[in-house]
Amino acid sequence: MPLTPVLTARFDAPRSWTLDTYERLDGYRALRSALAMTPDDVVALVKDSGLRGRGGAGFPTGMKWSFIPQPKPGEQPTGPAAAPKYLVVNADEGEPGTCKDVPLMMADPHSLVEGVIITAYAIRSHFAVIYVRGEAVHAHRRLMAAVQEAYAAGYLGRDVLGTGYDLELVVHAGAGAYICGEETALLDSLEGYRGQPRLKPPFPAVAGLYGSPTVINNVETLASVPYVVRGGAEWFKTMGPEKSPGPKIFSLSGRVVRPGQYEAPMGTTMRELLEMAGGVRPGHRLKFWTPGGSSTPYFTPEHLDVPLDFDSVAKAGSMLGTTALMVFDETDSIVEATLRFTEFYAHESCGKCTPCREGTYWLVQILERLVHGQGRAADLDLLTDTCDNILGRSFCALGDGATSCISSSLKYFKDDYVALLPAEERGRLGRSLRLEP
Ligand code: NAD
Ligand code: SF4
Repeated sequence: MPLTPVLTARFDAPRSWTLDTYERLDGYRALRSALAMTPDDVVALVKDSGLRGRGGAGFPTGMKWSFIPQPKPGEQPTGPAAAPKYLVVNADEGEPGTCKDVPLMMADPHSLVEGVIITAYAIRSHFAVIYVRGEAVHAHRRLMAAVQEAYAAGYLGRDVLGTGYDLELVVHAGAGAYICGEETALLDSLEGYRGQPRLKPPFPAVAGLYGSPTVINNVETLASVPYVVRGGAEWFKTMGPEKSPGPKIFSLSGRVVRPGQYEAPMGTTMRELLEMAGGVRPGHRLKFWTPGGSSTPYFTPEHLDVPLDFDSVAKAGSMLGTTALMVFDETDSIVEATLRFTEFYAHESCGKCTPCREGTYWLVQILERLVHGQGRAADLDLLTDTCDNILGRSFCALGDGATSCISSSLKYFKDDYVALLPAEERGRLGRSLRLEP
């Protein structure tokens, strides 16, 4: 397995976050190359590289950029093509267990700034915003300092590096709502409204910030862009599987010997990552884990060899999400872990739609009584029915994500739920609608 670091290569350099260090280690070289290309050629290069969004959904990055309506040569632009174009960086990292964007912004903020400038140039935008999670105060400060340095060095502002291209970049701190990581809620929040998701379509690529065409990309996605420009599409594709190439930062947490961020090519397996992290804590064995944060269905030891890339994980019944690998051992109660996650969703539900607002509240009530030994035989069916009425019926991905931990825990660990039922309720199980006696 090739382990040459790419995204984290500068993390250990002294004062890695400063412009001096960044430039000394080849920083802003990719920007010079990109500015010598046409914007369309930069989009084509990123499309060719196969880079897919690292925020969770894995949407092809170059394709997203190419959706921005652009004026046709020789024609007077009208509609969205005539509107200003915006680039918004989603730095509102909030998925439980996810800790990849904040370390990237802390250790190497200029890689993000360089990625932002290249991307804005590629989509012909002159205004970009980094929307950073409000609680990540240190990351916010680091970014502000990096942006100031980039302005002073002529990488931002008017006439970037004497090319005639202008770009303003603003760093904006959110107020810590999980839903503001959903791209359209983030836009509402940026515009000064309460952050709630908008109906899609239209997608932000056509009607985004202030109704104008907007590209919204995750931090790790944009930090990958300078490497694609410098190394080329073919080099990028040497890492990981053909349809999900490139380097990736995996966050390992929970019952592992050395929790932390591990960079590895897409398609690396959990078995390999666990080896790097020193394995499950001594004397214990893996019970269940999340491949991509709490919004993705649990995996079990039988999934240790699933390549962690978008398509392989989906084929195995979960989602790669944010590659937040939370590890639980045999001492952990899956029902209690599921209750904690569900409490999080109930708290963070924005309240816009009924299935999620009411459903997550009731899921917490049912799980709580199960955990406290006061469950009823019918509760297991009730959990499933409630999830069925949230999944696919909610306005945004938060509702769907809230059901993943419940449905998958019932699929793999039904016995753990049954064990929590009072003896008399266990006897009634055979009469419940769905469960086998
Ligand atoms: P999505 O699949 O709806 O969209 C992905 C991206 O592609 C969006 O930017 C969307 O605008 C764009 N897109 C999709 N179809 C398009 C089209 N036809 N035309 C133009 N653009 C199009 O996913 P989503 O709801 O944006 O994100 C869900 C993911 O977010 C989940 O997989 C979850 O893992 C992840 N997530 C991440 C965090 C975090 O902290 N990073 C938190 C919660 C959830
Ligand atoms: Fe809000 Fe939840 Fe509905 Fe999303 S699914 S719009 S978070 S209530």
